[in-house]
Amino acid sequence: MDCVFCKIINKEIPAKIVYEDEDLIAINDANPQAPIHLLLIPKQHLKSIMEINDENAQILEQIIKLAQKLAGEFGIDEKGFRLVVNTGNDGGQTVPHLHFHLLGGRFMKWPPG
Ligand code: 5GP
Ligand code: ZN
Repeated sequence: MDCVFCKIINKEIPAKIVYEDEDLIAINDANPQAPIHLLLIPKQHLKSIMEINDENAQILEQIIKLAQKLAGEFGIDEKGFRLVVNTGNDGGQTVPHLHFHLLGGRFMKWPPG
């Protein structure tokens, strides 16, 4: 499949992997928008949050727990961070494989641009 995140998951292209288990992978974003910018990615190819359903919704709990764990490991749990899911064109999604951005290490304004 011509999907950059599936290729990273299948080790066909390199990435800095910071976490991996049977269901999830977390990598450094190639174009970081904050001192810490990780991508938390389900290994299952879901196009976006719109493909979450009763069968696969447990992945959301796994991702939230991984975000907590990585926020602690990267030292941004106390000061705070942003967990973002861009969805579709107007949402700014550029890679059509569900992923959560974990951003931290600087103050982030709201609303984003
Ligand atoms: P989106 O715009 O879909 O919310 O986020 C996609 C993210 O994936 C962007 O922040 C972009 O920098 C990152 N990205 C795109 N291609 C690659 C890649 O090949 N490797 C890594 N590590 N990140 C990528
Ligand atoms: Zn994919």
